[in-house]
Amino acid sequence: MGIQLVWLKRDLRLRDHAPLAEAAQRGPVCVLYLYEPPLWQRDEHDASHLHAVNSALVELDEGLRSLGGRITYRMGRPVPTLRTLHAALADHGGIEAIWSHQETGLGWTFSRDRAVTAWAREQGIAWHQLGQDGVCRPHPRRDGWASRWTEAMARPLVPVPGRIEDVGSVVSGWPHHGPRTASELGMAPTTADLQALQPVGEAAAIALLDDFLAGRGRGYRQALSSPNSAWNGCSRLSVHLAWGTLSTRTAWQHTRLTMRALQGSRTPESRSFLDDLEAFEGRLRWRGHFMQKLEDAPRLEHENLHHAVDGVRERVFDDAKFQAWAEGRTGWPLVDACMRALERERWVNFRMRAMLMSVASYPLWLHWRRPAVHLASRFLDFEPGIHFPQVQMQAGTTGINSLQIYDPDKQARDHDRDGAFIRRWVPELAGVPDAFIHVPYRMDRVSQQRAGCVLGRDYPLPLVDHRRASALARRKLEEVRRRAAAREESRDIHQRHGSRMPASRRRWR
Ligand SMILES: Cc1cc2nc3c(=O)[nH]c(=O)nc-3n(C[C@H](O)[C@H](O)[C@H](O)COP(=O)(O)OP(=O)(O)OC[C@H]3O[C@@H](n4cnc5c(N)ncnc54)[C@H](O)[C@@H]3O)c2cc1C
Repeated sequence: MGIQLVWLKRDLRLRDHAPLAEAAQRGPVCVLYLYEPPLWQRDEHDASHLHAVNSALVELDEGLRSLGGRITYRMGRPVPTLRTLHAALADHGGIEAIWSHQETGLGWTFSRDRAVTAWAREQGIAWHQLGQDGVCRPHPRRDGWASRWTEAMARPLVPVPGRIEDVGSVVSGWPHHGPRTASELGMAPTTADLQALQPVGEAAAIALLDDFLAGRGRGYRQALSSPNSAWNGCSRLSVHLAWGTLSTRTAWQHTRLTMRALQGSRTPESRSFLDDLEAFEGRLRWRGHFMQKLEDAPRLEHENLHHAVDGVRERVFDDAKFQAWAEGRTGWPLVDACMRALERERWVNFRMRAMLMSVASYPLWLHWRRPAVHLASRFLDFEPGIHFPQVQMQAGTTGINSLQIYDPDKQARDHDRDGAFIRRWVPELAGVPDAFIHVPYRMDRVSQQRAGCVLGRDYPLPLVDHRRASALARRKLEEVRRRAAAREESRDIHQRHGSRMPASRRRWR
């Protein structure tokens, strides 16, 4: 009997951890966290992500120790690292099996997994990759996907093992090592305010979920859209789901239990909360729906999903516009406020993310790839399986979604009526009167002087005329989408990736 190796990836928890439970009942376990420098050095990753992962690992290590286990930390490429571990464990039967969760990741992780599969096969080591997000692998067809996802979510939660026999207790002097820093991984320091980041760990995840279901989620549907209410009104579980400090199944099952309890009550407040939780549950399903797209078509990390739009944006990329967008200097106050909030706190709500991508894609006419990578590095909850399909949907390159062009002035009027969010994050505009806070570019010279904000000096004019530039972008995209071959491809894409929900229930907002 050899050693069971649990390879931790985006599953940094004890609860509902099938690979850990399976491994623990078979013999001594090496719970491995492997830092892969080339992965961490990619532009999608930021030291704030590493900060989140390390916090989660420290807590997980404590939990494992209380059960007899520990994390073994290593840094390097997976195949050479596994080879070294296998050799070091040779006197104890080597690695008998590898246990991990399936990962719907970047192309980089897909090919690294292929290399590990080949190595494990060569060594006669079984690698068990278990599902955790309701994503099907292999995935034969979209029809029936939602019921398969619900079945996966309804399976019993995996109990925490009662005891773990750590590799260190059978191999004397086993080096566990410890977490690695950004500089050890060759990463640049983060610009995020680490104090302002959400704490990431299993205890924080459970507390956040409980608090949301105990009442914070009341009014969720109304709170979702505005950056003023969303910070507290959304569940804020995304970082935990992304790094796996909470399983989607735990979130779904706890939500279902609360919904069942509410179904017995007929008060208007309970009915309304029930509707909120239904909306929330739908979003947990969207999570799997989007991840399934990347699982089925990993190419959409780099390529347009719909080939008809190939070449439409690729030939021009205005670097100055991209920089202004990324740094929150577009001249559209809500866009700039969101970018600056994101820079410090690493989260904004869905509607604001969609608006940021829309502004980059239509009026600024930037190909989606660099904006996508920039946002990935700024979202603490970066989840490739949601991110790239969402980016493509907002950029109008899927061929199956209607073009959604967000007008930043209207979004600001609708969702930051009194300009509180704008004033907080764009201090240059703090003195601008309410009448101009959403459209400072309409102030005359005297109003600018009075507000202490001279346009072009203290705050930029909009990069382009939003209405004209967006109309042109729409025309260009609609023209290619109308071609017969494009329609044919849209039908194929819908067949492979489209939601089977009726359109009335499918508002990705
Ligand atoms: C361009 C763009 C990029 C995005 N990139 C990411 C990403 O990298 N990681 C990420 O977790 N989410 C991403 N989203 C989806 C969404 O914005 C976030 O999941 C949400 O804002 C997270 O906050 P929350 O946990 O409070 O969400 P809640 O509203 O409380 O939703 C609960 C959970 O449902 C899932 N979810 C919610 N909205 C969506 C959606 N529209 N599509 C798919 N799943 C959803 C998430 O897992 C979320 O944590 C992106 C959206 C856009 C428009």
